[in-house]
This record gives sequence, C-alpha cells and structure tokens, in this order.
Amino acid sequence: MNLRQIFANAISGYRLANTVREQIEVLLDSVDRLIVSNTIVAFFTTFVFAGSAAFPYARNWCLGVMISLLATTMVVRRMRSRSWSNEDAPAIAKNLVAMAGLRGIFWFVGFSTLLPMANPAQTYLLGMVVLGMMVGGIFAYWSLPSAALIFSSLIFSGAAIGLINTNLEWRNALLFAMSVSFVFFNRIALSHTTALRKQIEMAGHLRAEQEVVSLLLRDFEDNSKDWLWQTDHAGMLTRGQIEFSAALPGIPGELTVMPLVEAMTVFTKTEAQRQGIETLHEALSGQQPFSDIEVIFGKCEGSVHLMLSAKPRLLASGEFAGWHGVASNISAERKAEARVRHLAHFDSLTGLPNRTQLRARLDKDIATNLPKQQWVLYGDLDGFKLVNDTLGHGAGDVVLCELANRFSGQMQDGEMVARIGGDEFVFVLQRDENAIENIWQALVAAAAAPMMVQGQTLVVGISIGIVAIDGGTNSVDELLRRADLALYNAKQQGKGTARYYQRSMDEIAMQRHAMERELRAALASKNFEIHYQPIYACRDGHLQSYEALLRWTHPKHGPISPSVFIPIAEECGLINDLGGWVLHRACEDAKSFPNGVRVSVNISTIQLGSRRLLADVTRALDESRLLPSRLELEMTESALMENVDFAKSMIDDLKALGVGVALDDFGTGYSSLAYIHRFRFDRIKIDRSFVQAYGLRGESRAVVDAVVMIARQLGIGITAEGIETTAQYDAMVERGCDLAQGYLLGRPASIQTLQKINATG
Ligand code: C2E
Ligand code: CA
Ligand code: CA
Repeated sequence: MNLRQIFANAISGYRLANTVREQIEVLLDSVDRLIVSNTIVAFFTTFVFAGSAAFPYARNWCLGVMISLLATTMVVRRMRSRSWSNEDAPAIAKNLVAMAGLRGIFWFVGFSTLLPMANPAQTYLLGMVVLGMMVGGIFAYWSLPSAALIFSSLIFSGAAIGLINTNLEWRNALLFAMSVSFVFFNRIALSHTTALRKQIEMAGHLRAEQEVVSLLLRDFEDNSKDWLWQTDHAGMLTRGQIEFSAALPGIPGELTVMPLVEAMTVFTKTEAQRQGIETLHEALSGQQPFSDIEVIFGKCEGSVHLMLSAKPRLLASGEFAGWHGVASNISAERKAEARVRHLAHFDSLTGLPNRTQLRARLDKDIATNLPKQQWVLYGDLDGFKLVNDTLGHGAGDVVLCELANRFSGQMQDGEMVARIGGDEFVFVLQRDENAIENIWQALVAAAAAPMMVQGQTLVVGISIGIVAIDGGTNSVDELLRRADLALYNAKQQGKGTARYYQRSMDEIAMQRHAMERELRAALASKNFEIHYQPIYACRDGHLQSYEALLRWTHPKHGPISPSVFIPIAEECGLINDLGGWVLHRACEDAKSFPNGVRVSVNISTIQLGSRRLLADVTRALDESRLLPSRLELEMTESALMENVDFAKSMIDDLKALGVGVALDDFGTGYSSLAYIHRFRFDRIKIDRSFVQAYGLRGESRAVVDAVVMIARQLGIGITAEGIETTAQYDAMVERGCDLAQGYLLGRPASIQTLQKINATG
C-alpha cells in the first residue's frame, strides 16, 4: 500500500463525517431536560389560572401538552435504542423538527388563547413563561437550528397573537422585548451550531490524520529494514530491542543490561567500526537531533550496516528524557554497492582486473618514477574463436577462466594480469630485461598446455606484444597502441610467439594505414583490374577455365601483389565490397570467353563467413546471365576452419545455385582429407609448393599421391597449380591430375590481351 492509498482510505471514512448525526446526538443528550422543563412550565402555566374561569381550559391544554411530551419521550426512546446509520440522520432530523413543531403548536395554542383570558398579573407571569420557554427551547434545540427556529417561532407568534388581543398597558414593550429575545437567541443558537459543525469536522480530520500516522507507522515497522527505537535518559533501549537483536545476532544479552552504544561497542570487530560507534556516542552525548549515522559490525562478507537517526525526547518541563529515532538495516544496499564497485573494476567472468583498472594502474605507473623496470605485455589468444564456434560459449568461458588462473599463477607481487576484451589479456610486469624473455615464454607455454573441456582435450595459444614503460610515452593509449602493434607483428610471424615493440613498426603501421586509405579510394573509383590465368585439361590440352586474379596498380608504388593488399582489405573491412566487385566483373568477362570455358574466382575467408556472399554470387550470375555451371569458387582450408558449420551450410547453398566449389592451396593448411569429403568439393587444387617439390622431396610426393588417389575414388577433380616446367607437367599428368595451371601453360593476362589471343587463334 502506498502513502496516497493509505491516506485516501483513512480519509474516506471521515470526509463525509456526518455532522447531522453528531448534531442529533447532542440534541438527544439534552432532550430529557427539555421534557422535564416543559412539564414543569406547563404545570406552572395551568397553576397561574388556578381559581379563575380559564382554569378548566388551561387544565385541558396542559393535558394536551403532556400527551405531546409523552409522544416525544417515546420517539426519543426508540431513537436511542435503535442503531442508525449516518444515512438515516437527515430523516431522523426531520422527525425531530416535526416533533418540535408539534409541541410548538401546543404552546402556540396555549399562549394565543390563554393570554387574552388572563388578568394583568397573570399576563405578566405568562409573559415570563413565554420568554423562558422561547429562550429555553432555543437552547434545548440549539444543535438543530431548524427545530429551534420552528419551536421558538410558534411560541413567539402564539404569544404575540395572545398579547395583541389584550389591552395591557405594557403590551407593546413586552412584544418588543419578546421580538428582540427571539431574534437574539436564535442568532446565538445558529452561531453555536456553526461552531459545532466546524468542531465536528475538525475532529473528523484529526481522527483521519491519526489513523494515517498509525497506518504509516505500522507499515514502517512491518518493513523489517527500518524500525523505531527509543531510549531512556540513561541510553537504555526502551523500544526496538527485538529489531536490534534481529539485525545483530549475538547482541541481545547486552541490550538489556547496558546502554545501546555500549552494547554496540562490545559487538564491533575493527578499529574503523569502533570509530563509527564513537561518532554515534558523541551524537548521543549531545542533545541535538542527528541523522544518518552509519555503524558497521561484523566481518566483510556478513557485515551489518545500520543507519541511525534520532531526536532527543524532552519532557514538558524541558528535561531530557532520552532519544527516539529510526534505525535502518542498510546491509543489502551496501553489499549491492560493493558489488557494483567490484564490477566496475573487475571482469565478471574471470575475476581479473578489467580495462578500467588496468588503465588506472598504467596511468599511475606512467606518472611515477618506477623503481623497477616495468613492462606491458599485450596478449591475444590464438584459436579461441574456434573453441567458441565449435563448442559454444560455455566452453569458451571455461577456457578463459582456466587461462586466467594459469596466468595469475605466473604473476609476482605488484604485477597484474587484466582481461580487457573477449580473448585479450594484458600483463603489467616488473622484471628486468632478461627475465622478460623467460616470462613471455612461460605465458605462451601456459596458454598452450592442453586442457580438458566438456570431455575434450583443447589446445589454444597466445601471441604477445611487448613494450617497456620507460618514459618513452606518457599516455596509456599510446602504450597500449604500441603493445598492440607488437602483438600484430607477433601474429604475423606465426602465432604462439612474442614481439617487442620497435619504432620501425610505427613506420610499417603508417604505411598500412596509408594503403588502407588508398585501397578505399581505389575501390570507390573501381581502380582495379582482373587478370585471367588459363587452366588446361591434361588429357587433351583443351582450355578448361580461367582463374580470375585481382590486380592493383598503386599510384606511387606501382603493381602490388594481391597477397599483400588482400589481407589489408580483409582487416579494414573492404573485402566484401572488393570481392563482390570481382565476382561481378569476372562473370561479365566470362561471357566473352570461348564457348563453355569457365571462370574461377577466389573467395576470402571473411567473405565465406558472411551471408552476403550468397547474395553477391546470385546477383553476379543474374546480372551477367552467366550459367551457374560456368562459375567456380576457390576457397582455402583456413576459411572452412573459422566456422565449420556456417561454412558447410554456405557451401551447400552455393552448390544449390549450381556453381562449383574448389579447395585451393591444398597441402599448405591442415590438409585434412576429411574436409574434402564433408564439404563435397568438386575439385582440389594442389598447392604449387607441392607441385614444384614433387620430384625433389619424398614427402611431397607422398602427399600428392595420397590426395590424388583419394580424390579419384571420391570422383573429385584435381588441378595442379604453379607448373613451370615440362617435367612438373609430365609428373602431374602421370600421377593422374586432370587439370593443370602454371606459367609454363600461360601467365595471367588482362581480358583485352586474352581477347586478342583468342581472336588470333
Ligand atoms: P592463388 O589463388 O593460389 O592464385 C594463384 C597464384 O599463383 C597467383 O598469384 C598466380 O599468379 C600465381 N601463379 C600461377 N602460376 C604460377 C607459376 O607457375 N609459378 C608461380 N610462381 N606462381 C604462379 P597472384 O595473382 O599473385 O595471387 C596471389 C593470391 O592472391 C592468390 O593465390 C589468391 O589467394 C589471392 N587472390 C588473387 N586474386 C584474388 C581475389 O580476387 N580475391 C581473393 N580473395 N584473393 C585473391
Ligand atoms: Ca586460387
Ligand atoms: Ca592456389
């Protein structure tokens, strides 16, 4: 229930607090006196006429008055015995007004008829009776002004009529006195009623407010977090013992025998906690209200935090009687705050410091003159993505936690290992130069040690970039950038190794950035060319297809090899656009190839990892209207390894379009024969290193022989790449390769050159 609801509920019972009901109750209280006084006055009036001729008439009239009083008594009795609701009040008030009217009529009749019959002495006596009845009636009925008015009007008018019919000397003076009394006392009665109404309303409000306060307090105390407490002048708890005991298990005994603060002091554990109690003690020694003093008890995990506020209790004499206040158990809030603080500085998965904490530490290290040589090692896991993709994120998390443990084990006092991204760890080490060599090797070995995850043995690795904190830079960003640059070089060198940052790396990095920009510009203006290298059938020397090879002539540096710029395009996110353009151009050009000659297009790892490839291939085929069977896509094993399931479904979709798929550079990667089967390749291209070493190295021969044999059994075609000599050609033909490609047979050439060659025959 919220505050507004409580308030509304409490108020509704009283807002319509029936004033009329209260008015009636006031009236019913005084009605007995009214009846007694009426009876006496009626008898007195009759007695005034005793012995005169009007006595019989007066006696009968008195009888009538008695009957009316009897009726009133009966009605009032019934009203008192019956329980009635606020809604009945207006009707009852009407009844009471009617009764007042009825009795008024008897007095009207009495005064109007008896006065003319009276002698002067009797008239004066009656005049007093009239005044007494009128004023008494008004006061008896004051809480119900309409009743008072009707009753007094009837008396007043009865008396006035009676007086007019006499020829009394002081008649007019008496009439005047009666009129003034009538108006004056009715006026007083009315203002009394108004005051009564106000009073009733105020009482209603007061009750409503009390109700609200008590409801709020009940609500407040039901909420176990907060409670009210009170002490006597000696500081002994007189209220809230149960709640304090519940918040501080172990304290109850003390609470009953010593002042609150002393009991709390017994319960504190540390010096800091005792200081908190000291603050409270000081506040309680004074006599000023205080708020939000926090006191802490117990050990870190289960520590209890109480927040106290209080005001001094003063007696009416101004004497100090103790304290009363509110206590809140804010332990849960404090725990949550601590958790948030922790999360802000630690990685929630591994519990290692996070990027924020690392940066703070490095900021400090850069600013201070370090006593020891200090290093930043930027590590990035190798092969982690594969674990995540093949075994799921759960397995990935296990690997990260295990590595976090292993790495932490290598740290010495004052050193730090932080996890700053998915699979990036940064080490801050304090060792001399030769020790660094050992530690990076230890870290690489720690990462590479096999681990069991989900019943499988997994091996990942780490590559590391190293930079010294030696005053060469005064910004954390620059420090991390240099370490990252060294890491990039380590990855380039083959993974699982480390590289120290060198100034020349900046140069290379700058060149790469420049090249990135120029690549973007070249792509925007389609400043690329495609050269086509022929592939022939070994059996009859027929031209089978052309491989599309991308060419880029740099405005300053001249022709640049695709082996250089393709990786850059991959890194800076240009490869999808570039590859899309190659597909489009190659399919267009293929239309001018001699009948049935196909085109082979190289597909990058990144392209294969994106859904866009399917759309690009479909569009290139649609726009060029090339038969899908005339397009073949070449991809490498590493592309398949990145995300096996995705690659599999992508290749299935591509094959469903009718295009061919070839496994490029076979022999250089994992050379898994299982892949050939699983991915349903149409063709394998044996890498030129094997072709060229075939006659020279025994193992090359063995690989080529095995692949050819298996491929033939599976009905898969084999192309020999990089044939430069007739000896190589003969050997490949003899082994059973069905297609051949190489400088011996034809170099890559532009489409214009091809068209000329084809035209001349
Ligand atoms: P790749 O797919 O293995 O292409 C064959 C490479 O071998 C080509 O080098 C070709 O010129 C070269 N080559 C052909 N015959 C011989 C020979 O007898 N001897 C020697 N020494 N080399 C020969 P290139 O054009 O420099 O291409 C290098 C690599 O760049 C390609 O290797 C391919 O992986 C990549 N590449 C080329 N064009 C594209 C493209 O459009 N997209 C993608 N993703 N990659 C491409
Ligand atoms: Ca190729
Ligand atoms: Ca190749």
